[in-house]
Amino acid sequence: MFSEKLLKLADESEKKLSEIFAEIDKTAFFNTQKVMSIFRENRLSDRHFNSTCGYGYNDDGRDLCDKMFAEAFGAEAGFARSQIISGTHALAIALYGILRPNDTMLSVSGKPYDTLDNVIGLGESGNNGEGSLIEYGVKYEEISLIDGKFLDYEAVRKYLERDKTVKVVFVQRSKGYGDRRTLTVNEIDKLFELVREFDGVYLVVDNCYGEFTEEREPKGDLLVGSLIKNAGGGIAETGGYIVGTKRAVELASYRLTVPGIGLEAGASMGATKPMIKGLFFAPHITAQAVKTAHFAAAMFESLGFECYPPSLERRSDIIQTIRLHNAENVLKFCAGIQKGSPVDSFVTPEGWEMPGYNDSVVMAAGAFTQGSSIELSADAPLREPYLVYLQGGLTYESGKLGILTAVSEMLG
Ligand SMILES: *Cc1c(COP(=O)(O)O)cnc(C)c1O
Repeated sequence: MFSEKLLKLADESEKKLSEIFAEIDKTAFFNTQKVMSIFRENRLSDRHFNSTCGYGYNDDGRDLCDKMFAEAFGAEAGFARSQIISGTHALAIALYGILRPNDTMLSVSGKPYDTLDNVIGLGESGNNGEGSLIEYGVKYEEISLIDGKFLDYEAVRKYLERDKTVKVVFVQRSKGYGDRRTLTVNEIDKLFELVREFDGVYLVVDNCYGEFTEEREPKGDLLVGSLIKNAGGGIAETGGYIVGTKRAVELASYRLTVPGIGLEAGASMGATKPMIKGLFFAPHITAQAVKTAHFAAAMFESLGFECYPPSLERRSDIIQTIRLHNAENVLKFCAGIQKGSPVDSFVTPEGWEMPGYNDSVVMAAGAFTQGSSIELSADAPLREPYLVYLQGGLTYESGKLGILTAVSEMLG
């Protein structure tokens, strides 16, 4: 199916990566151990998988699922719920939960992920700012990363000393669709230490795509993510999580449901087992995706394309950026990823105006779960400098297959 030359290139790439692959396996083992001891200490049992309906009061399984997600992230409290429709929804719950009129949200990793534009009220598309934080009287300010790479701790400190209206410091761990560096757990921990010096200021971390790539998760008042990315292990078919300090989680819980009810209701409708099973798989599946990312970088570097991060650099998220120079390459690359997917392998992706995104975006995804990006997928806004963002791969083997198909497609 693939040319001799391509298979040889694949072998060489894997040889180059052997040490890194061994380190990734170690991280996966460490994180699996962590999750398994949480299951054991909490005496996870068959009865926790029971489905509840209606209000869902006294749902032990749901409550335990909440608790175990919090523990897996090293947090005091938290919840993982199927009622959260996406990562953006989870982030909105966190932000609306904490911010009040006249408070300031200070983003310290530059502009947040595209889908938050309409939540904050920055977007020209979509809702014209209706229902946004800004419409509610929240102010929004931004500090850029230094050279697109590092948190500007000094600027954050100065800002917090000067402006006492800041209630939320917001940081995005992964580069997302940005042309920037992904932040490490240590860097975010250092930011949390700084933020904690200021009374009444909360650190909200967009943890999407970062989960289980390192042995610990960052510290923050709230860590937020989607269950159809790393944290759901390819098993959870919908949902999101919010974990963090007790106080911040309580505030967020009033936005998940309503004030006065918080986490005490919400029928599980059979979703508890896939969420817990997803947590079980998450360390392993994340490792598969990280290996796939390294492999893609090694392959495309050999072909002369610039990859970010470079193939031999360790990661704090699962996203691989490849600079493809023009729209034709992007479309061919995405066609290849699509062709190498288990579902919908016969379709050819095209650019479209996706709700919540401002530019035309091409997406390649042949996933079992719609939109799941822990499954092999590629996203590329059709704009300069034609970067394609590749992520996922439920198994390294299928991830590798997808990359090889993309390379074949591009080289013709
Ligand atoms: C995926 C992602 C989100 C949320 O996106 P959804 O598609 O709503 O789940 C937010 N921030 C980052 C960095 C992401 O990668």
